[in-house]
Amino acid sequence: MILDHKKIAIVGGGPGGLTLARLLQMSGADVHVYERDFGKDARVQGATLDLHEESGLEALRRAGLLDAFYQNYRPDAGRVRILDKHGDIHVDDHAAERAFAEDRPEIDRAPLRKILLESLQEGTVVWDSRFGSMERKGEGWLMHFKNGTEVYADIVVAADGANSKIRPYLTAITPVYSGVTIVEGNIYHASSNAPRLWELVKGGKIFAFGDEQSLILSAKGDGSLAFYTGCKVAENWVQESGINFNEKKAVFDWFQETFGSWNDVWQELFTSDEIWLTPRPQCHFPLDQQWETLPNLTMLGDAAHRMPPYAGEGVNMAMQDALELSECLTAGMFGDVRAAIADYEDRMRKRASQITQMSLEMTDLLHSADPIPGMVAVMGGE
Ligand SMILES: Cc1cc2nc3c(=O)[nH]c(=O)nc-3n(C[C@H](O)[C@H](O)[C@H](O)COP(=O)(O)OP(=O)(O)OC[C@H]3O[C@@H](n4cnc5c(N)ncnc54)[C@H](O)[C@@H]3O)c2cc1C
Repeated sequence: MILDHKKIAIVGGGPGGLTLARLLQMSGADVHVYERDFGKDARVQGATLDLHEESGLEALRRAGLLDAFYQNYRPDAGRVRILDKHGDIHVDDHAAERAFAEDRPEIDRAPLRKILLESLQEGTVVWDSRFGSMERKGEGWLMHFKNGTEVYADIVVAADGANSKIRPYLTAITPVYSGVTIVEGNIYHASSNAPRLWELVKGGKIFAFGDEQSLILSAKGDGSLAFYTGCKVAENWVQESGINFNEKKAVFDWFQETFGSWNDVWQELFTSDEIWLTPRPQCHFPLDQQWETLPNLTMLGDAAHRMPPYAGEGVNMAMQDALELSECLTAGMFGDVRAAIADYEDRMRKRASQITQMSLEMTDLLHSADPIPGMVAVMGGE
């Protein structure tokens, strides 16, 4: 096979990188994952994820991990409520009269990571390895990590997420700002720290809209409430607003000012001290992005095609990339690694372009003057 005697380094142990590692190991490849987190127990932030049949679930099926997924997924976590800023409910998947089909099962990020990690051979993930730089050496790359170690690999795969440090070795194409910035948060022990919202989210998800702003909430299995605000602000708002995002009080004040006309119930989001917060300007790559294929370097997931999260496709795309890249590299269809990567990149860019377009349309809809009718239609009516 074209991977014989090749050392593969995947940088980034997110869902995309770990899925690729598992699939390549199933074909006997020599693969390691270099991850900046300090260990397997690092706290994994972020809302519950719904996996789609043709992408995320298909990748897990091919990885032999579907049973493990169904032992860890969260039935009913996909039940959605759509509300307006006043707290009135417009769509309710918890209502008895509304048929709810669990066709996109939900799993929290931490158990998804655990399933993937446990499927890998001992020592596959090299923790505390924050990528710094790399240079060409022979046919491959010599990588330097911030912990002072150096590693040679014949093939490097960038799976290091939206702010990839490896992507610039492939292309100079920079992200485009979507017009919306998120403040992402996680409230721990939400039943006591945000009791009204915990009751309202009912183990599922909430989408709330008003004043061209959005709030998206998701109950997690560990009892925390993940959420993100969406606001139309200037591209450099995080740096130029004067808000110190390391100071909770400053962020709470910003929320009160910006969402002050919203119902009291929403104010509970920004009150508890047991909260984690981070701002995230939402960007995407140009829909027609191209780069020259290299024989020893490629990328997947957010590193290749970051996009706003409003179509719920990011994780699914990352896992589908992993599936398609592993197939190209191991199925014996190509004469060399470069041809395999070229085929993968070509299909991945086309697919990601369509999905990015859809995500941008959803971003516009959710932050329009009257998003609820459109959202009701997306969810299949009342
Ligand atoms: C607020 C929010 C909500 C979202 N909601 C959804 C949703 O509902 N559904 C959905 O499908 N997607 C959602 N997404 C998108 C989704 O999180 C990403 O698309 C997905 O995680 C991408 O997977 P990945 O493996 O490419 O990258 P990531 O999950 O970002 O993983 C990258 C990994 O690389 C590591 N890393 C980063 N830099 C380095 C470095 N220099 N050296 C070593 N390691 C490094 C990181 O620690 C991380 O483990 C959301 C995103 C956000 C921000």
